[in-house]
Amino acid sequence: MPLKYLQKYKDEVSHCVRCGACQSTCPTYSVAGDESMVARGRMALVDAVIDGRLDITKGFAKRINSCLDCKRCIVACPSDVKVDEIIYAAKAEIAESFGCNPLMKFFSKGLVLRGWPFAYFLRFFGILKRIFYDPLPDSFPLPLALKVNGIKRSFPDVGGKPLRNIYKGVQSVDEPKGRVAFFVGCATNSIYQNIGEATIEVLQHNGIEVVMVEDELCCGIPFLSNGDRETASSLARKNIERFTSLDVDAVITSCATCGSTLKHYDSWVDDENAKKLSPLVMDIHKYLAEYTDYTKGLGTVNKKVTWHDPCHLSRGQDVKDEPREILRAIPGLEFVEMRKPCDCCGFGGEVSFNDYEMSMAIAKGKVEAIKDSGASGVATGCPACKTHIDDALHHFNVKSEIHHTVEYLAQSYRAGRK
Ligand code: SF4
Ligand code: SF4
Repeated sequence: MPLKYLQKYKDEVSHCVRCGACQSTCPTYSVAGDESMVARGRMALVDAVIDGRLDITKGFAKRINSCLDCKRCIVACPSDVKVDEIIYAAKAEIAESFGCNPLMKFFSKGLVLRGWPFAYFLRFFGILKRIFYDPLPDSFPLPLALKVNGIKRSFPDVGGKPLRNIYKGVQSVDEPKGRVAFFVGCATNSIYQNIGEATIEVLQHNGIEVVMVEDELCCGIPFLSNGDRETASSLARKNIERFTSLDVDAVITSCATCGSTLKHYDSWVDDENAKKLSPLVMDIHKYLAEYTDYTKGLGTVNKKVTWHDPCHLSRGQDVKDEPREILRAIPGLEFVEMRKPCDCCGFGGEVSFNDYEMSMAIAKGKVEAIKDSGASGVATGCPACKTHIDDALHHFNVKSEIHHTVEYLAQSYRAGRK
């Protein structure tokens, strides 16, 4: 039977010359030490599946589904193999063979696609977590996805009023210098409303009008990662239609993963307008650096802060210098680089649930780098990285705060107004 998603990558996969340049950069290989857990091995497996030499087995699924989509191999690869696109196509093929994860299926078909108030479902989940999960001691027997090294996984508090219910319509300013739409993203809408509030605050401080889109949908990445192309494509097409029909200069994201997903819709969504959306999508750091004079009105923030490069920002959107420039511009803030700031934190979406032990083993290096930097705070640009690093800090008993850059910037503007 011809493969539905992988067949078109036959030629692309053959570009892998098995040079092994990806090996030393791959976080899953560094933990597993197994050739099938690096891009070279994964491409060899995909090649065998395309050629019919290998069936789509559970073992194949394990190797493919453990890829973190950190894109480090793509940067290292001399043949420019599109490892991320191939892995997503392989995941879709795996879902064709074995079906999607039932929990994700419930989320997609039962909640997200039916337009249920997803954020309110998360609030309910947050209440259950506070009542039943949080009081459990570390000694309580939990599945491997929730406990490693005898330490219980910590989750952020889910709850609070969804950001898009607090901020509706146009967040206006006097004599606007620009007009942007804000793609909030599910995590910021339902968990980290403070990141969203700070994003709006810094944009308004810089004279930018912010358009909130009431019927914004999930960017689709959780479903793409789960191989559920149908749901991911449906969400993507609706977002493309909504965000390209707006009269705005840019579509701003303060979630690196949402931003990278929206920017690259054209690589997997069959929609002409995906190409129109891509150049409009801009990470908040890049927008501030290129289109505003964000250094006006800054006040003192006396903190020592380091920066973690999210994979989907540094490699997914090529945004590396701008966050550092912003942090360095804040008076009183001492910026220090951590060791290997571009290393993945180990989250990888559902990978951290499928193999929490590996995920935490990768996060250990990040936590040690944070600790050794001597900083009391970490800035980053992705709510997913924040969640995982927060959990890892707790896991390895290291004290540090972690915030989005816009939260430090908003704090500085507030200090400047006093
Ligand atoms: S994306 Fe990251 S985890 Fe996946 S193969 Fe490449 S380097 Fe390894
Ligand atoms: S670096 Fe690229 S060409 Fe070399 S083995 Fe890895 S994926 Fe293949």
